[in-house]
Amino acid sequence: MYIDIPDSCFWLIPVFFFLYAETHFRIPGLFSRYYKKEPEIIADVPFRLDPGQPLPVLILIKDTHLFPVTLLNISATLYRGDFKYEILNDCPEKLFVNQPVWHELYSTPLPEDTEGHVRLDVLITFEINGKVKTVRNDNYALTSHSPFEINIDPHPLPKKQKWFLGDLHYHSIYSNDQVEFGAPLDVTKQIAGTMGIDFFAVTDHSYDLDDLPDDYLQNDPLLSKWYDMLESVAALNEGDRSFVIIPGEELSAGNDKNQNVHFLLLNNREFFPGSGDSAEKWFRTRPEWQIRKVLSKLDAAALAVAAHPETEPPLLQKLLINRGKWEDRDYMAEGLHGVQVWNGIKNHFLDHGLKKWVSLLLQGKRLSLLAGNDAHGNFNRFRQLGTPFLTMRENKNDVFATVRTGVYIEKDFSLNSLVEAIKNGRTIVTDGPFAELSIKNKNGIESKIGDCFTENSGLVQFTALSTPSFGFIKSIGLYAGDLSRKQEIKVFCLTPGPECYQYSEEKVLPSLPQSGYVRLTVVSENKSGTYHCFTNPVYIKQEQAIEDRH
Ligand SMILES: [Zn+2]
Ligand SMILES: [Zn+2]
Repeated sequence: MYIDIPDSCFWLIPVFFFLYAETHFRIPGLFSRYYKKEPEIIADVPFRLDPGQPLPVLILIKDTHLFPVTLLNISATLYRGDFKYEILNDCPEKLFVNQPVWHELYSTPLPEDTEGHVRLDVLITFEINGKVKTVRNDNYALTSHSPFEINIDPHPLPKKQKWFLGDLHYHSIYSNDQVEFGAPLDVTKQIAGTMGIDFFAVTDHSYDLDDLPDDYLQNDPLLSKWYDMLESVAALNEGDRSFVIIPGEELSAGNDKNQNVHFLLLNNREFFPGSGDSAEKWFRTRPEWQIRKVLSKLDAAALAVAAHPETEPPLLQKLLINRGKWEDRDYMAEGLHGVQVWNGIKNHFLDHGLKKWVSLLLQGKRLSLLAGNDAHGNFNRFRQLGTPFLTMRENKNDVFATVRTGVYIEKDFSLNSLVEAIKNGRTIVTDGPFAELSIKNKNGIESKIGDCFTENSGLVQFTALSTPSFGFIKSIGLYAGDLSRKQEIKVFCLTPGPECYQYSEEKVLPSLPQSGYVRLTVVSENKSGTYHCFTNPVYIKQEQAIEDRH
């Protein structure tokens, strides 16, 4: 049995994104190694748990309207050293499931004193066409089915008060097409909460959000998915002062060369259509909107962010769907607030994203430094189609909240205060440690991250924090950029003593550039890896320089 598809989908083949893998997409006459006459059955759990939290176990079953099943049993076993514990055993009384997406989120208490590295196996027993089958962790044909690895962290994520941590690039259940699908918003919120995460932005593709809810091959003139997403986000945010979802879309828009690039439009009421790289129609790859035009039309409350702007698209995507990357002139567009230059994979960020952001700072462009993972569900591991119809890929990249944006908010935590703080540049990005800096003038007035300091000397105060999960603090580096010289220098790089998880100091900066910035980098390390935090700058524009401009 095929899912009926038009010819146009042939050219979808090279266009693979990163959600839970949809394996039922086939092209008549082409063999698929992972195709099964079963629904996709997936278990997922967070890769890390904040202290004292129950473990959420998500079961997601897709396409039972095509392959109905009767659920018989769902169980989960936790392995800690030589011990094993059954933490879940649910018999859903022969539950017949026959809908496009079915899910259940179990909240399972852990045995007392569970901490550190544990493994978990989830077994799902069901009946299909009179046969009883048991699935371990997922029923994909070509994945490992190996146990989930979870860090039951005895320490919360390192941060100071009034800082909030989140993921600014995430695909949810509103993404659903030939190759991928994500998790529901309420589930994401609950799982994120147990991970110590305070917010996420929901950024499904513009070309998915404009589809009919039950048919991803047809557009919906009423935009029901878009309005449904806005309503669901509003309902989940209502009255909650501890967690915020930022509604949004990942718009496929035209760059300066009129190639399709990705653009996160957050907290904007109006939907912008963008299907240039959707592969929905043959040879229709022209973007509907250009970056500059979009920026001139956004709500005052909206937040505009370049999505993974330095990621070079693969050749086939360049050729077939007119994909490009953000060009220098695009970054200069009026109204752009931030750059999500850290998109999951750290090496790419260090080699390309960070360098680009620094070069923009040195050109005087103040764009908030932001991070996200582009996860599609994926709370513990990434399971995705590899070579179409032949392989599946599985790894730990692109997992929700692996890299995080930290935001400093002085007022109450809310959607508005969060968006405002990001626009004001009160951000850091991290995959582990925490960093903060400020500069005080002689009268004791403090300029924080994102502020502008206006004198020629000051007292820089900085803090670095880590925990055993991210290792001891290895180095703290302060960098100063000078706009007139177009140069960034390392002011100092200090190594705290051994076994340091907390470091604070103040140092006098005797001569600051006329116009520039200072920013901080913290590196920590343990047996499992090296972790980084980068702050957005405190900008510097001395009064003299401000006057000269007038
Ligand atoms: Zn993208
Ligand atoms: Zn994305």
